[in-house]
Amino acid sequence: MSALLEIRRVARQFGGVAALADVSFRVSAGSVVGVIGPNGSGKTTLMNIVSGVDAPSAGVVLFDEDPVQGRAAHALTRLGIARTFQHIRLVPHLTAAQNVALALHDPEAGLADILLRLPRLRRIERQRHERAVALLDRVCIGARAASPAGDLSYGDRRRVEIARALASGPRLLLLDEPAAGMNHTEKRALRGLIAGLRRDGITVVLVEHDMDLVMGVCDEIQVLNQGRLIASGAPRAVRNDPRVIEAYLGA
Ligand code: ADP
Repeated sequence: MSALLEIRRVARQFGGVAALADVSFRVSAGSVVGVIGPNGSGKTTLMNIVSGVDAPSAGVVLFDEDPVQGRAAHALTRLGIARTFQHIRLVPHLTAAQNVALALHDPEAGLADILLRLPRLRRIERQRHERAVALLDRVCIGARAASPAGDLSYGDRRRVEIARALASGPRLLLLDEPAAGMNHTEKRALRGLIAGLRRDGITVVLVEHDMDLVMGVCDEIQVLNQGRLIASGAPRAVRNDPRVIEAYLGA
């Protein structure tokens, strides 16, 4: 399988701290790849670099074989990279559908476009709402479309976040600790959701602490420790790797 994403010798230095050092791996198109590691091992830094929130100090990020490191987040969204964040970023008093619809706004529409479209605005709004509800359906919470985001359970809010990330029609979806704070039932549903995204052809990079989820849903796992990649491979091989066990026990 061809690599949709390739991290090649990426480093990120914060003053004297090497958050990432010489990290390389490939993510095949259509796969689910887990990135795990103890706290402070560089997972968030890596997600920030791939999503354009941050730039590497050295190295290359290839998306569909093109170097994209250092490009702005909105440019990467347009190319097909979307992400969710560790901390939920929803507007609590807006409905689930409105939160998703916000992400469907055309960021390139200037004032002239908006004025030209004015007579059609209501129709555009309605289409946007329908599309938002369809995205909520895709993450199995279409029935909650009209509920204020603040009234939703934690697991459902995480789903709204995923629906919002899907609004840009990504080929690569980065999920940053999606199971954090979820109960057992919600985690099982999340696992089904990620498997469904893969079936739809979306490549997923999953940063997650919940080992059952990571081991159950990932095709391959990359393990970071102190900014370095210490192991990679199929879930079972990684789980039994002495370097991984030591990194976790030593954390
Ligand atoms: P993880 O997500 O695995 O917990 P991070 O990527 O957040 O790890 O952090 C990796 C290392 O980089 C840590 O030592 C952290 O303190 C440091 N770090 C991350 N972001 C910054 C920053 N903006 N400024 C300084 N140090 C940072």
